[in-house]
Amino acid sequence: MGASVQRHDGHIAIAGTLTEDDDLIPLAGGLTGKVTIDLSGLRRINSAGVRMWMLFVRAVPPSVELTLEKCSVPFVNQMNLVRDFVGGARVTSVYVPYLCTKCSKSPVRLASLGEAMPEAGKCDCGGALEMDADEQHYLAFQR
Ligand SMILES: [Zn+2]
Repeated sequence: MGASVQRHDGHIAIAGTLTEDDDLIPLAGGLTGKVTIDLSGLRRINSAGVRMWMLFVRAVPPSVELTLEKCSVPFVNQMNLVRDFVGGARVTSVYVPYLCTKCSKSPVRLASLGEAMPEAGKCDCGGALEMDADEQHYLAFQR
């Protein structure tokens, strides 16, 4: 079972689990102009999925202005692990993982890159939330 890809003109949402079943190269070849990919629903990428994704970004025509937004935590982890994971794409926002100090829920908050980290706020249970990653390491893909 692979990922679901929904496309509306220049806006694409990729969700679910990215695996060897997800040949995204035909998608890449059809892109023109400005394209934004929403990765908020991407739950998992297996090792074959990593390869499929990297083939995809390399198959995007150089004239395409590719933006990645709302990158899920698993996607950000891959960006930090795999060199050149997003090729020439621009990343505008990522989800940051938090952990409740009281009930162990792990909500996420959307962070726009280049801006301050979002306020952690409180968990639904009233407990304090702490960032569940080292900020320097989590955002290391930007360098
Ligand atoms: Zn809680």
